[in-house]
Amino acid sequence: MHIETFTVGMLSTNCYVASSPETKDAIVIDPGLDFSSEAKPIFDFLDAGKLKVKFIVNTHGHDDHIKGDALFQQKYSVPICIHPLDAHYIVALENARFPPNVMLENGGSVKFGSETLKVLHAPGHTPGSICLVGEKIVFTGDTLFAGGIGRTDFPGGSLTDMRASLKKLIGLPLNLLVYPGHGEASIIVEEKRSNPFLNSRNENVFF
Ligand SMILES: [Zn+2]
Ligand SMILES: [Zn+2]
Repeated sequence: MHIETFTVGMLSTNCYVASSPETKDAIVIDPGLDFSSEAKPIFDFLDAGKLKVKFIVNTHGHDDHIKGDALFQQKYSVPICIHPLDAHYIVALENARFPPNVMLENGGSVKFGSETLKVLHAPGHTPGSICLVGEKIVFTGDTLFAGGIGRTDFPGGSLTDMRASLKKLIGLPLNLLVYPGHGEASIIVEEKRSNPFLNSRNENVFF
């Protein structure tokens, strides 16, 4: 799987284009643009690689992750995929057609070309937050960041749910690369070792 990162919007959201090198099928994850001009480098990248966009996928429904959904949907006529508990954010999005849609439930998957990402429901930051788990990578949205975790004090957030979700994440293979919703990429083993919210040697241990 090839992964290209674009940092977009005023909150510096990571928008990822994940693609299958064999078939050129691709998905766009969290195009949280603040300005339509921010789409141009992403469109150009997709055009240059002759990539075929199959889905727009949202790790959760916050504005800084979904604001460009309609723009990509208009250009590529593809479904927007999100967990049902965060789908209301898309319904409220101006210009988005919803349906067509794909509801991403826990245990489901997103397939494009020869690539598969499994859906891991990870509530806490929002009720419908998901992580997308591949063979070597995991997209963690605003659940897990390099050295941090997502806020749980927004409407629908839950510290209890966040704890359970983080437990699921640190149970993943240690060598998985972590692609978060904001900030630098990481690796599960490194987060387990040094993330203060996950490190059992820290006195502020999270669980
Ligand atoms: Zn968020
Ligand atoms: Zn965010």
